[in-house]
Amino acid sequence: MSKNLTTRAEDYSKWYNELVVKADLAENSGVRGCMVIKPYGYAIWEKMQAELDRMFKETGHENAYFPLFIPKSYFSKEASHVDGFAKECAVVTHYRLKTGEDGKSIEVDPDAKLEEELIVRPTSETIIWDTYRKWIESYRDLPILVNQWANVVRWEMRTRLFLRTAEFLWQEGHTAHATKDEAIAEAEQMMNVYADFAEKFMAIPVVKGYKTANERFAGAEETYCIEALMQDGKALQAGTSHFLGQNFAKAFDVKFATKEGKQEYVWATSWGVSTRLMGALVMTHSDDNGLVLPPNLAPIQVVIVPIHRTDEQLEQISAQVNDLVKELKNLGVSVKYDSRESQRPGFKFAEYELKGVPVRLAIGPKDFENGTYEVARRDLLSKEVISKDRIVDYIMNLLDEIQTNLYAKALDYRNSHITEVNSFDEFKDLLETKGGFLSAHWDGTPETEEKIKELTKATIRCIPLDQKEEEGKCILTGAPSNGRVLFAKAY
Ligand code: AMP
Repeated sequence: MSKNLTTRAEDYSKWYNELVVKADLAENSGVRGCMVIKPYGYAIWEKMQAELDRMFKETGHENAYFPLFIPKSYFSKEASHVDGFAKECAVVTHYRLKTGEDGKSIEVDPDAKLEEELIVRPTSETIIWDTYRKWIESYRDLPILVNQWANVVRWEMRTRLFLRTAEFLWQEGHTAHATKDEAIAEAEQMMNVYADFAEKFMAIPVVKGYKTANERFAGAEETYCIEALMQDGKALQAGTSHFLGQNFAKAFDVKFATKEGKQEYVWATSWGVSTRLMGALVMTHSDDNGLVLPPNLAPIQVVIVPIHRTDEQLEQISAQVNDLVKELKNLGVSVKYDSRESQRPGFKFAEYELKGVPVRLAIGPKDFENGTYEVARRDLLSKEVISKDRIVDYIMNLLDEIQTNLYAKALDYRNSHITEVNSFDEFKDLLETKGGFLSAHWDGTPETEEKIKELTKATIRCIPLDQKEEEGKCILTGAPSNGRVLFAKAY
C-alpha cells in the first residue's frame, strides 16, 4: 500500500481529496458532483446514522418516508422557498426513452412528456406539508414528530467529496406543532441534539448559534446551526435546525381546530444533517499519515496483527488471540484479527494507520513467550508493551482516552482560533494569516454583511447563542452594534 499523501501544510485541499480516496471512503463517479460511497466510508456513515436515529427516537420522533419526486406546482406555493432552491433543482420532464432513427442511439421520447414536471427533492418541506394537510384536523393530531432518512439532489456548481455534493444522503426532520413556543423549543432541542452528537461521537466541538437573514434557510423564520472549525482554519456548517413559523402551513393550507374550536395555522420546524459530517470528521482529526477516527465512530476499533515465521507460531498466536477477540466482542468492542497470509505485517500496519483504526495490537513469537502485546494508538502514534493479563482493561480505557483526547485537541485548536477583532484591517490580516472564527461587531444590515463577503470571502457563520451584550462599532461601517458575531471563511 502506497500512502504518499500530500501533507496538510503542502496543500490542505489536495490532502483531503487524496485521503478520502486512499482511505477507501468514497470516490468520484461518472456523474459530476455525485460520489460513490465505498463500504469503509459507508460503515462510518451507518454508525453516525445509528446513533442519531437513537437520539431522534429518544426525543420522541418516528421515521417515515416521502417520495423522491415533487410536483413542480408544489414548489411555487412558498415564494421564498422556491427562490432559494430554483437554481439548484434537477427536473424530470419525460418518462420514456426510445431508439433513435439510426437504430442505435437512445433519445428521450417526445411523446412521453410529463404533464407536470417533477422536481427531484432538494429538501422535502413542500411534499411533506402537502401530506400533513391530510393528517391534521385538530389539536389532538399534534404534534407530528417525523424524520426521514433519504437522499436529496441540489445541483451544486462547485462540489467536493462529502462536503458539498450534488446528491447527498441526509436525514430531515419535519415537525408540526400547535404553538409557536413549542415549535421554537423543538428547533432548539434538535440543534442541541446535533451539538451533543458532534461533541460526544464525532469529538468535534461546535458553536451553537443562529444565522443572519442572508444565510437563513429559504422559507425559515429562524435557522439555528452548529458550526465547526477545520484544521485549515475554515469553518463548516455541520447541521441546521429551522423554525419555519406558519409559512408552510399557510402555503399548503394546513389548519387545526384548537381546544376552543378556532381554526389556526400549524407551526413547523425542519432540521437536517448530511453526509457532509463525514467530511467534517476527516478534516477535524486526520493527519499526514491518514485518517484518525474517534473510537465511537470507527468501524474497526481494535485491529490485531500477528507476526510469525512458522505455521506453528501462527497457530499458537491465533489460539490466544481468538480468546481475546471473543472477550472484546462480548464487551461491545468492534475488533478485527487480521491473520491474512497474503500481506506482510508492515503493509497491514500502514493500511490500518491510513484507515484511522484507533488501536492496533501486534503480537509476535517474542510477545507470545513473554505474555505481552505491543499496543499502538493512532491518535498519538505511540506504542507500549502491555501484559496479556491486563490487556482487556487497558484497551477499554484506551478507547475512552483516545475519544477524550481527540475532543480535547480539537477543542484546544478551536478555542485558540476564536479571535476578537476591532478593526477591518485587523480583520483582513487575521483572515489571511490565522483564519478561524473572527469575533467582530457588525451593524446588523444584510448590505454590510454582503460587502464584507465581497471584500474578504468571509461570511457570518452565526450569531452565537451565548452572545454577550456589548456596545461596539461595526468593523466596516462604524455604525453602532450591541454584540459580536462570528465571521469565517467557510466550506
Ligand atoms: P439545509 O437544508 O440547507 O439547512 O441543509 C441541511 C444540512 O445539509 C446542513 O447540515 C448542510 O450543511 C447540509 N448540506 C447542504 N448542502 C449540502 C451539500 N451540497 N452536500 C452535503 N451536505 C449539504
